[in-house]
Amino acid sequence: MPGEDVTAALDASRGFEPEGISAVVTYLGENVLDAEQARIVTDHYCNVLQLISDRGMQCEVSVKLTQFGHDISPEVSFKNVSRIVQAASRTNNYIWIDMEESRYVDSTLELYRTLHREHPNTGVCLQAYLYRTEQDLKSLLPVHPGIRLVKGAYKEPADRAFPKKSDVDENFFRLAEQLLEGVKQKAVRVGFATHDPRLVERIQQKAATLQIPRDSYEFQMLYGIRTEALRNLARSGYRCRILISYGPAWFPWYMRRLAERPANILFVLRHVWS
Ligand SMILES: Cc1cc2nc3c(=O)[nH]c(=O)nc-3n(C[C@H](O)[C@H](O)[C@H](O)COP(=O)(O)OP(=O)(O)OC[C@H]3O[C@@H](n4cnc5c(N)ncnc54)[C@H](O)[C@@H]3O)c2cc1C
Repeated sequence: MPGEDVTAALDASRGFEPEGISAVVTYLGENVLDAEQARIVTDHYCNVLQLISDRGMQCEVSVKLTQFGHDISPEVSFKNVSRIVQAASRTNNYIWIDMEESRYVDSTLELYRTLHREHPNTGVCLQAYLYRTEQDLKSLLPVHPGIRLVKGAYKEPADRAFPKKSDVDENFFRLAEQLLEGVKQKAVRVGFATHDPRLVERIQQKAATLQIPRDSYEFQMLYGIRTEALRNLARSGYRCRILISYGPAWFPWYMRRLAERPANILFVLRHVWS
């Protein structure tokens, strides 16, 4: 994270623009159970969209439904997220909806479908580790969605998600192939959100075989992870976006990042002890 404040996130985002890398910012927080707090988060995002517009930046926004009171009821989060999407429409921006634990997938996709009917400036995240995702993708493609494909960051049981990493990687590529077919037909906006060099290469090759131009789909990575690889992709003409998180509620997000790579835990311990 460049800092806890939105200004730090936007300044960092601006720093990437000359390199041809756009950004998407997210205000960390999840599982908000207080309606007033959810409203405050909504106001915050509306202000951020205005700030992005005032600064004339190429920066989108990504949100978690549980930060808008989805656990109180999907109606509460729908009301709040609709307000943000309307603010994004006014400022010519785009809103991505994160995917959280598997128990939220049905309600997230239902909300997304309703939202996207009125507001095409919206995309949703799908997780390759879930068995159901192939079916979800098939049912979403006809509505011309925006899809960010990820491997998935939560601990899920084996009856819902592939337990083996190699199976997740294979499923990611299978889904990526279907998405690229959608890109070719101009039926979907796609962000491949992975730092995995092998997957990036396979996607590049598949897209080249399908004669899909490099700027018709996007690679997305997290701020601070394999940024040089993202720079190289941008230099080679691929559309690239970096996700920049900010805010004081960083603990659950940080723990998920630690869990993704055992070397990260060693890295933190070394700094604690040095
Ligand atoms: C833009 C973006 C949005 C995301 N949105 C969501 C979402 O809405 N829902 C969700 O469940 N998940 C989301 N994720 C997280 C995603 O699911 C994965 O957990 C994460 O991206 C790691 O998987 P990977 O594809 O990079 O592959 P991995 O196989 O995990 O990693 C490949 C390589 O990348 C590097 N790397 C990966 N992670 C780290 C790390 N934490 N620290 C250091 N190096 C690392 C390592 O070199 C590793 O070998 C998002 C990720 C990105 C980039």
